[in-house]
Amino acid sequence: MANLANIDDWLDREFTCACGKKHLITLKKVLIERGAIKAIPEYLQQAALQSVLLVADEITFAAAGQAVLNQLKSAGIQAEVCLITKNEHGELAADERAIVQVMLKLSPATQAILAIGSGTIHDIARFTCYSANRVFISVPTAPSVDGFASVGAPLLLQGFKQTIPACAPDAVFADLDVLCLAPQDMVAAGFGDMLGKYTSLADWKLGHALLDESICELASDMTSVGLQLCIDHIDGIRNRTEAGIKSLMQGLILSGISMLMVGNSRPASGGEHHLSHYWEMRFIQEERKALLHGAKVGVASILMANLFTALSSIEEDQVRDLLAKALSPDETSDREAITAAYGAIAEQVITENYPQGANAAIEPLSFKQTILNQWPAILHIIGQVPSPSQFSQWLAQAGGPITPDQLGVEPDLVEESLNNAMFVRNRFTIMRLNRWLGLSSAN
Ligand SMILES: [Zn+2]
Ligand SMILES: [Zn+2]
Repeated sequence: MANLANIDDWLDREFTCACGKKHLITLKKVLIERGAIKAIPEYLQQAALQSVLLVADEITFAAAGQAVLNQLKSAGIQAEVCLITKNEHGELAADERAIVQVMLKLSPATQAILAIGSGTIHDIARFTCYSANRVFISVPTAPSVDGFASVGAPLLLQGFKQTIPACAPDAVFADLDVLCLAPQDMVAAGFGDMLGKYTSLADWKLGHALLDESICELASDMTSVGLQLCIDHIDGIRNRTEAGIKSLMQGLILSGISMLMVGNSRPASGGEHHLSHYWEMRFIQEERKALLHGAKVGVASILMANLFTALSSIEEDQVRDLLAKALSPDETSDREAITAAYGAIAEQVITENYPQGANAAIEPLSFKQTILNQWPAILHIIGQVPSPSQFSQWLAQAGGPITPDQLGVEPDLVEESLNNAMFVRNRFTIMRLNRWLGLSSAN
C-alpha cells in the first residue's frame, strides 16, 4: 500500500474504482513544504485568478495571512481581507454569523477565497465558496484537523452541528514554516483526529458487514496509510519537527482525499466523532468554552476502543442469547430517547435518524440473524482496532489529553453521550451494534 501515500498521484483525477463507483478528486495541487505560501501567487496567476478574498482571524492573519497578502500585492493580485470576529461568547465558530461576515466582503469581482487558518476558518470559507460559486483555496495554519481537503462543512446551525455538503479546495498550500510554529495543543489535536480513524474505519466496516453499506477499500486503505504515517512519527509530531509535522499533514490530507473519493465523511468519522459532536453541542447549549475538535476525538476514540475490546471476547453462543433477549430498537422508543436527550434540537435529530421518504426501517428479526451470521466477520473487524491502552499510550506520547476529565467533560456527560450520541448521525457504529445486542455502551 506504500504508493497510496503519494498524494500527487491522486490529484485531479477521475477514475472508476474497484468498489464500482466513479471517484472524482477535484483537488489539483497540494504543497507541503517550507515556504509553500510563496508559491500561491504563481498558482493564482496560472489559474487566471486575479481577485481574491483572504478569510482569517486575528491570530491566523498574523501567523500567515499578512505574509500571503504581501506576496499577492507584490504580484499585482487584487486581495481583500475578511477577519472573522469572535461571537458573543468570545469564540470563533462556523455559524450563520461568520458566514454572513464573509458574504458581505465578497464583491462581484472576487474569484477565489483563501482560507487562512485552521478547521473553523476552513469550514466558513468552504461553505461560502460553495454557495457563492467561488474557487476555494486552503492555507492551513495548524495541522489540527483532517477537514482541509474534504468536501463537507460541519456548521453550527441553530445550535445543531450539521455537516453541509460544500466544496473541496482546488489547492492546499501547507507551509511547514507556519505549521511547525502551531500551538502544541492544536498539533496534538490533529494527531487525535487521525487516531480516531481506527474506530471510524471499523464502524464503516461494521456498516458494510451488517447493512451491506457500500465501502471503498481504496479509500479505507488510504485512510489507514495516512494514520500509519502519523503513528510512525509520533515523537516528531510531539516535538513539532519538520518531518513530524509533514507526516501529520500528509495523514490529514490523505484522510481528506479519502472523504473526497467517497463523497462523504464515512471513512473518517464514526462513533468517536458522534461523541465529540455530542459534547460540543452540550457545551454550546451551556455556553461553555469550546474544546479542540481533535482533542475530543482522540479521547472519544479511546472510549470507542473500550467498546470494541469489550465485544472481542463474546462468542457466537453468547451472541445468540444476547440477541434473543435484546429489545429491538424502534422509531417510537428512538423518538422518546432523542426528545429526552437533545432538548431544543430534538426535532432536527429525529429528522436525521428518520428522514422522510427513506427506506423502510431495519426488519429486526432478519437483522438479528445477520448479526449472528456475520459474527466471525465482526470479530475480525474488532481485531483490527488496537487496545484502549495502546490508544492512551499513543495519545500521551503525542502530548494530547487522554481522559474526559483532562478535557473537562464530566462523567455524567460521558455516560449520557455513550447512550445517546449514536443519534447524532444516521450511521451504523459500534454503539448501534451494542444496542442491538441489548448491551449498554455506557458501562
Ligand atoms: Zn475529525
Ligand atoms: Zn472506490
